[in-house]
Order: sequence, then structure tokens, then C-alpha cells
Amino acid sequence: MRAALVLIDGARADVLRELLARGDLPNLARSVIEPGSLTTGTTVFPSTTGVAYIPFLFGRYPGSVGIPGIRWLDRRGAAGNWREQWRAARSYCGPQGGLLNSDIAPAPSIFDLVPDSIAICTPLTRGLPAGGHRIPLRRVILGAAAHYIGTYPALDRAVASAWLDAANESWRFLFVVFPGVDGISHLKDPHHPAVLESYRLVDRALGAFRARVERLGGEPPVFFVVSDHGMTVVREHHDTATFLESIGLPTLRHPTHVWRRGARAATMVSGNASVQLYFDPRSGRDTPRTESEIPASVLERLLASPAVRLAACRAGNGGISVRTRKGRARLSEESGLIRYEPQEGDPLGLRGSVELDDREMLSRTRDTDVPDAPRQLLQLFQAHRAGDLVLAAAPGYDFRGPWEIPEHQAGHGSLIAEHMEVPIAASVALPDAPIRTVDLMPTILERLDVAVPRGVMFDGVPASRITGVPEPLAR
Ligand SMILES: [Zn+2]
Repeated sequence: MRAALVLIDGARADVLRELLARGDLPNLARSVIEPGSLTTGTTVFPSTTGVAYIPFLFGRYPGSVGIPGIRWLDRRGAAGNWREQWRAARSYCGPQGGLLNSDIAPAPSIFDLVPDSIAICTPLTRGLPAGGHRIPLRRVILGAAAHYIGTYPALDRAVASAWLDAANESWRFLFVVFPGVDGISHLKDPHHPAVLESYRLVDRALGAFRARVERLGGEPPVFFVVSDHGMTVVREHHDTATFLESIGLPTLRHPTHVWRRGARAATMVSGNASVQLYFDPRSGRDTPRTESEIPASVLERLLASPAVRLAACRAGNGGISVRTRKGRARLSEESGLIRYEPQEGDPLGLRGSVELDDREMLSRTRDTDVPDAPRQLLQLFQAHRAGDLVLAAAPGYDFRGPWEIPEHQAGHGSLIAEHMEVPIAASVALPDAPIRTVDLMPTILERLDVAVPRGVMFDGVPASRITGVPEPLAR
């Protein structure tokens, strides 16, 4: 048995379904969905490239392995010399990209557990055998060109061609990443004709790969076709860093202010619709701040912005405090139960106090505007490196100014449904219950009949064990 996991970065579940309905993705329909299934799952927070690959390749939440975002601040390093300050302002979008592999806490990747693995165009390579990462150089060169001048089709075609070549080889697990849908969506919008053409390119690549496998007399692998996050159009940029500067807080930020003198705050943006804030970043204090240690006037002013769907921080008593302009609630987890206790208003839209186990909570939140928010906020703040405060953007907003090159016309990273919901297609049956991307790796290992070593734990659950979850309550 072999498995191929195809990741269409930034593919929206609704766009994929529309294209399928129009007959535009015939290979995905015939080779994957007709014999198997298609569902809409949820990804992780922050819903951003790289970070949101961790569930697929480690079976863990990013917060469980110490990665709170595509950018984050190392509190201790930020108080060091100029070199340490640069390194402390971590950003995987650029020369520090490779650090993602070593920053992830010790845990086996799927490549460690399935040694006969090949991966094409991935930022996460930990555990791959020598030569197992295909087109690494073209990924860097074509990827940089695509980022600045928009030539994503050339990058996607290189991926398709490497995928076709892999049909002739022996492997048990194949991971293929197509960056075009995400990249072109950022430059235009998630429904632009050029974006739709990127979905079709992936479909043609799937058809060509399958045809070659069959011509060589092989059995097609079990296919999983997924995305790591959705996307929405950005109507207004609300740059958190320039806002903090405007109220008198010098702010450490990327790309050129990582050495900001006298910094009183640091902003680390993911996606760009989420941001983590760190207060007094030059103090050398390693302990994250709790709610009462966050300047209340700054928090109130941030919450007053229409760009902010919610803010969250560590409550003093071990839980998480969720804030909106008019609402406040506490999240906590004890003895396998997640508890949501609104104190003012109802920030997560759950209509009162709720205490449920993990899968029931997923199901219960699935139809809110912030699906899986309780689990996702709890997992993020497991990471010591997570900010003192995190903001998730409302639809239509992001947290980086129009100065970014190139300017983001669309984005992701927030907890909102349009960013959290992702298509999950498989050539085998998927459970008729809400699932998360973190459930995929245990599901694939089960399909491949790979024994999980003792002591290795996953945050996800194999599909075969996801049953009996009640339907979301009618709203
Ligand atoms: Zn993106």
C-alpha cells in the first residue's frame, strides 16, 4: 500500500467544490472523490503556510511543537546583541526559512516513520532520506521569482513534472505541494481566473501521474488531496506595528525594524490576518505576560479596531482569556474537557457556557464564524514562544500595511471560517463527522499499516476512530 498527499496551498473548499460541479477537475472527481470522499475540514491557527503543514507531517498542532506562527519572537534573544536580535525576530518568509525544521520540537515526522518517502516543493523536510526532497533548488529560485513577479505557473509546472517523474520510482509515501493557488490569490483574489486555472493545473498533473502509474503496470496509491488554509480578499490593511508606533510605542517588526531602538512592543504577523504581540521585548524577560500584565489601554484600543475579530492571551489562572470589544470569556481544559465560560457577551458565539470533550467541541463550533476556536487557542498558547497577546482579523482585514512587496490583495492566518475551512478529499472513505487536518497523518499511517513507536503521540485521531460524534446543534 502506498499513499500520496497532495497539498494545494491556499485552496478554498467552496472554490474547489464549484470547480468540481462545473466538471473542471475531472481527474480529482474520477480518481479520488468518486471512489472515496470529499469533506470540509478545519486547519490550525494561525492558518498559514508552513505552520499549517505541521499537522500533515507531524500529526501535531503547531503550538504542541513550539511553532506559534510563521513569524515569532524569541524573548531572550531579543535582548541580546544585534546578531541575536536578528535571529530572535524569527521569520520563515526569507533567509531564516530553513530554521523551521530545527525549531520544531523533537517529534518524528511522517518521513521518519515512513522511510521510503519523497517530497516535492516543501519547506518541511525533516526526516526525509538523502535525495528524498525533489527540486529543492528550483523551489528556491522559481519560488523567489514567483513571489516577486508572480510566475507561479512556472513553479507549479516544475512540481507537476517532478511528480510525474516520481511515478517511475519506488516509494511508500509521496508529499506534493502546489504553491500557485496561494501565491496568485495573494496577488489578485481567491476567485480570479488565474487562480482557478491553478486548480486545473493540479488536476491535469494528477491525471498525468495516474496515467503514468497505470502505463507502468502499477496500482495507483491512496490519494489525499488537501489544503492548509482558505483565503479572503483584503479590503483594508490595519498595520498593527504602525498603529502601536502612532500611540507612542516603538515597535520591533519585520522586515527592516528588527533592531528598533527602545522597542516597547514587537509584532509578529502570520498570513497576514493574525498577529502576535510581545510587550517590552528588550527586557530579557523570558516569561510570557498574562492578561493583567498587558497594558489595558493598549488592549482596549486594539479591540476597538474593526480589523480585530478577537484577541486572546493567557489568563492569570492557567486558562486563556478571549476578548472582543464587548465580550470576554475564559477557555480552559481539564480532565479531557474543554470549558468555555463567557463573562461578558459571547466572543465565540457558542450561546453560553459550554463544557465538552475535544471532538464534541469541534462539532459544536463547526458552524460558528470561528470554527474550532477553543481548541486552536488552547493549542497555540501551549507554545511558550507564542506572543503575550494574539489578534485574529475580521473578514476583509489584515495586519500588515500596503507597503508590503508585493501588496497582499488577499490573505489568511485568522480564525475565521473562510481561513480555517479546507477541502479534504481522499480516495478512501472519510468519516461522516467533523475532521481536522491534524487527523490526516494518523489516518495515512493506519492506511500504510505503519506501527507507531511507543511513546509517540499525535494530536489527531485516525479516521477509523472518528465516529459517533453528534451533529452540530441547529442554530
Ligand atoms: Zn499565503
